[in-house]
Amino acid sequence: MWPHDPDGFESLVMPPESTDPDRAKYFVFVGREIMGVMDAGAPRPLNDGEFRWLEMDIKCQLYLGQHEGGPAYAAFAEGSPGEGFFTTDLRGWLGKTSPSLFYLAGRAQQHIAWHFEHQFCGRCGTAMVDHEADRAKHCGSCGLISYPRISPSIIVLIKRDDKMLLARNAMWPNGMFSTLAGFVEPGESIEQTVHREIKEEVGLDVTNLQYRGSQSWPFPNSLMLGFHCDYAGGDIVCQEGEIAEANFFGKDDLPKMPPKTAISRWLIDEFLDTL
Ligand SMILES: [Zn+2]
Repeated sequence: MWPHDPDGFESLVMPPESTDPDRAKYFVFVGREIMGVMDAGAPRPLNDGEFRWLEMDIKCQLYLGQHEGGPAYAAFAEGSPGEGFFTTDLRGWLGKTSPSLFYLAGRAQQHIAWHFEHQFCGRCGTAMVDHEADRAKHCGSCGLISYPRISPSIIVLIKRDDKMLLARNAMWPNGMFSTLAGFVEPGESIEQTVHREIKEEVGLDVTNLQYRGSQSWPFPNSLMLGFHCDYAGGDIVCQEGEIAEANFFGKDDLPKMPPKTAISRWLIDEFLDTL
């Protein structure tokens, strides 16, 4: 389940004149939660009528683009949502709604966070204004332009014959094992990040990096770039404070693994399918 393909969304800065309000979607955030309507057991964003009649204080509304023929908006509201709506952390939508709607909700959450975190210029303190042509904010005083922030990170499965390396993070309470992951540093290529993170976390050398696919992970703003690679040498030495335990696992001795909504699991399942 790799959501590589176009998903019916077109990112635009301004709505087209022909946009159909009856097909509008509103991803409304209240505090750190997203509002939704439960529709046949699946959460969905608000429609035009539901948004229009909200008895809440709308603090901002951002146009994101067109989704399935209608405009998609992110909004931030204060007050009580009222009857018929529910609120949850965005993780509450993961695996419960279509991947397309989940990633659009993640896009909305990241734009709302960026909007409120970039009200003032980080260089000179002047109030920022919306950029005329791009989805960006502009400082009229010093010229700084701020774009929505994305943090690229790598996630990698190391293969060794018919086994794969999975590690348990020292911060995870529930005994789950997953693939290794880490953020790209400024000045690094993504391939360098893969080698560095593996060396740091488990002390191994690897070769034959193969890019497999990516996942937007809006907690808070990661872009996960997924790889397979082959073990090339070294003994496992777990990074203190980071990795509690790491081992090579075969398909007959699998530990507790991530859910099927996460790229780590897609990397794992893809490897298991080759055995
Ligand atoms: Zn400035």
